[in-house]
Amino acid sequence: MNLTWTDDERRFRDEVRTFVQTHLPSDIRDKSLRQQRLEKDDYLRWHHLLNEHGWGAPTWPKEHGGTGWNPLQRLIFEVESFRAGAPRMLPFGLTMLGPVLMKFGSAEQQARLLPRIIRLDDWWCQGYSEPGSGSDLASLSTKAVKDGDDYVVDGQKTWTTLAHYADWIFCLVRTDPDAKPQRGISLLLIDMRSPGVTVRPIRTLDGGHDVNEVWLDNVRVPVGNLVGEENAGWTYAKYLLGHERTGIAGLGHCRRELDAIQALLAGSADDGAPLAQDPRWRDRVSRLEIDILALEMLLLRVAAESDGSPGPETSMLKIRGSEIQQDLAMLRMELAGPDAWPYDPAWLEADTDADVPGPDGAARTSAAYVDMRKTSIYGGTTEVQKNIIARMLLGG
Ligand SMILES: Cc1cc2nc3c(=O)[nH]c(=O)nc-3n(C[C@H](O)[C@H](O)[C@H](O)COP(=O)(O)OP(=O)(O)OC[C@H]3O[C@@H](n4cnc5c(N)ncnc54)[C@H](O)[C@@H]3O)c2cc1C
Repeated sequence: MNLTWTDDERRFRDEVRTFVQTHLPSDIRDKSLRQQRLEKDDYLRWHHLLNEHGWGAPTWPKEHGGTGWNPLQRLIFEVESFRAGAPRMLPFGLTMLGPVLMKFGSAEQQARLLPRIIRLDDWWCQGYSEPGSGSDLASLSTKAVKDGDDYVVDGQKTWTTLAHYADWIFCLVRTDPDAKPQRGISLLLIDMRSPGVTVRPIRTLDGGHDVNEVWLDNVRVPVGNLVGEENAGWTYAKYLLGHERTGIAGLGHCRRELDAIQALLAGSADDGAPLAQDPRWRDRVSRLEIDILALEMLLLRVAAESDGSPGPETSMLKIRGSEIQQDLAMLRMELAGPDAWPYDPAWLEADTDADVPGPDGAARTSAAYVDMRKTSIYGGTTEVQKNIIARMLLGG
């Protein structure tokens, strides 16, 4: 693998950098860099600006309306926009459902839904997990029974990220209760405004509201909203999870956090000595920098060697990305020291910046720290990823 950037790649990086610097609204940038909460409108505004520029689907091929960028260009885009304070592009339509529709969806679904994903006309959410069916997803029990031209869906999904903003949910449902667990599952697209859909918030450790319970009570879903074939949903679900895990590596997030830590190192300790002169801090930061570089190489290798269908290698990305994001959050918290101890969830809101105690909003680092615990759980836990690596890559 050639690790030297070409002139074209440097030009591309400069193009992305300039675009983000000139177009990213300053209020969104400030919220992101201060670790404050982003609202639905922040995501929509940024996505619409990207789309106007032709960058609404950075990971998609041109034939489906995407940018057609190669893996390195995608990575450059992710890292440059994150470092400058841009919100992440929502993964639910772009990196989860979109690729599934391209491979398994009907021509009608592709023509109708893919352009809407690029424009972010529809906010999608992911209805996989259920109480009691997380790692053991194939045991899910939300059922869909055919009735005329509809399926009637009953059950409960949980941990559904940003479902309170969503217009649609892609849902794994059981369509054949008598088949082996993996064989009786289908993938349905459900309009969140359908009668019988109820969303209830789940408050997380940082006091925030990102995740939800979604209740489905006799929800009627047209059979045309089935993706692919009935009872073949497990294949689509696994395909989607591979794409999800690549995105969860969070390289852009890692780079942004490293920038913030390096800025903190430029400050002084209580005794006035520059933190950057302390070999213990320098050692910790250098190790993380090397870890991030290695993650970047791994991401590029996996992307270069895959044919667009991510395989079990993405489990390595998921594990390393989660670990590094948690290490960064831990280091940032340690650097903030006692300033990280006081915490009020209200400090995550944009209009409370003036009231946050401590330097550089250090008091928000504890919220970010507890929030980052999620990275080794969502998208499949670290233990489950290790099982996949053992079984599929090491032949255990
Ligand atoms: C912040 C957040 C956002 C999420 N967003 C979504 C979403 O949008 N949509 C969605 O569908 N889901 C979402 N999830 C759910 C997520 O995918 C599940 O939490 C995850 O798959 C783990 O399932 P579980 O919570 O039921 O834990 P369990 O499966 O009950 O696991 C509990 C513990 O047992 C371990 N364990 C389980 N099985 C094994 C095994 N075979 N070998 C070794 N150890 C094992 C696990 O590693 C874990 O430590 C989200 C979760 C979080 C925390």
